[in-house]
Amino acid sequence: MDRSTSYDLIVLGGGPAGYTAALYAARAGLSVLVIEQFSAGGQMTQTAMIENYPGFDEGVDGYSLGEKMQKGAERFGAKTLRAQILSVQLACDPKVIRTDEGEYLAKTVIVATGAGHRHLGLLHEEELVGKGVGYCAACDGMFYRGKRVAVVGGGNSAAADALLLSRICDTVYLIHRRDTLRAGKTEREALKKADNIVWKLNSTVEAFQFEEQLTGITIKNKDTGDTETLSLDGVFISIGREPQTKLFQDQLALSEEGYILAGEDTKTNLPGVFSAGDVREKPFRQIVTAVSDGAVAAYYAEQYLTEE
Ligand SMILES: Cc1cc2nc3c(=O)[nH]c(=O)nc-3n(C[C@H](O)[C@H](O)[C@H](O)COP(=O)(O)OP(=O)(O)OC[C@H]3O[C@@H](n4cnc5c(N)ncnc54)[C@H](O)[C@@H]3O)c2cc1C
Repeated sequence: MDRSTSYDLIVLGGGPAGYTAALYAARAGLSVLVIEQFSAGGQMTQTAMIENYPGFDEGVDGYSLGEKMQKGAERFGAKTLRAQILSVQLACDPKVIRTDEGEYLAKTVIVATGAGHRHLGLLHEEELVGKGVGYCAACDGMFYRGKRVAVVGGGNSAAADALLLSRICDTVYLIHRRDTLRAGKTEREALKKADNIVWKLNSTVEAFQFEEQLTGITIKNKDTGDTETLSLDGVFISIGREPQTKLFQDQLALSEEGYILAGEDTKTNLPGVFSAGDVREKPFRQIVTAVSDGAVAAYYAEQYLTEE
């Protein structure tokens, strides 16, 4: 194997799971490459304040935490390749990872590609991304200071987005297809206290109105069938996440929702292939559970190499 392109471990994805795996594996003496298409930190980079990751008594912004995780792993020799993973061959030995920056070989692989935002799937949605349609209020909310926006969704993320935007924007419509939100009691109560949030329950988004930018959305009340057009500057779609597992679907066992089936030992159906973080089928997806998975996956990758 060419030493410049072959590693004991290649970690796919540079979020908290990926960089924790890299830290543990590099400290254990493995040669490690992390392949990440964007900046370090994964989904954490989309939030300005993380308050439930231990060790930061005043909270920490996600971008800085991602950078710290990358630096922490690289301090022990892990390398980062900024590239998009295009295809993988995981059943062979060595395993082959093809990227837009070349091909890399690995004795073991940890899949930590996380999860992305679910889209509504409406006509013109993709072309309006960045032109009024967004998926991350923490990232793009500031562009809508003093403006009229909507949040679509009813879970904790949608509630958090609506609250964040209510502090920045003039008016925030909260559109949910059911008659109650799935968000927790604390979030629901906070939403009720915000006097610039207008609730539109039992309603679905039917269409986007736009010229060059989004100008509004048409919503439909499920009970009455009535439609209404809201004039808006932006809409944030917050209806959940999808695992980034398209690359693996013919090789790794996946759940119905597309998450990788691996137990708490992070072992997948293929020898030498492990899965860590939000991409793994599990009940609770958080930074602490992602870093936990990363450490466990590195432990078993090291054990696999020792046994081999
Ligand atoms: C707005 C927001 C706020 C959040 N707030 C909190 C919070 O306060 N506390 C908390 O505990 N959790 C929070 N979370 C959840 C937390 O960020 C995730 O649980 C965590 O980031 C999962 O880590 P991960 O490493 O498994 O995956 P991710 O963070 O999703 O990282 C996966 C990485 O893989 C990369 N990748 C995927 N496919 C490819 C490819 N083909 N090629 C190259 N790279 C690829 C992605 O670019 C990404 O960087 C928040 C999430 C969001 C979106």
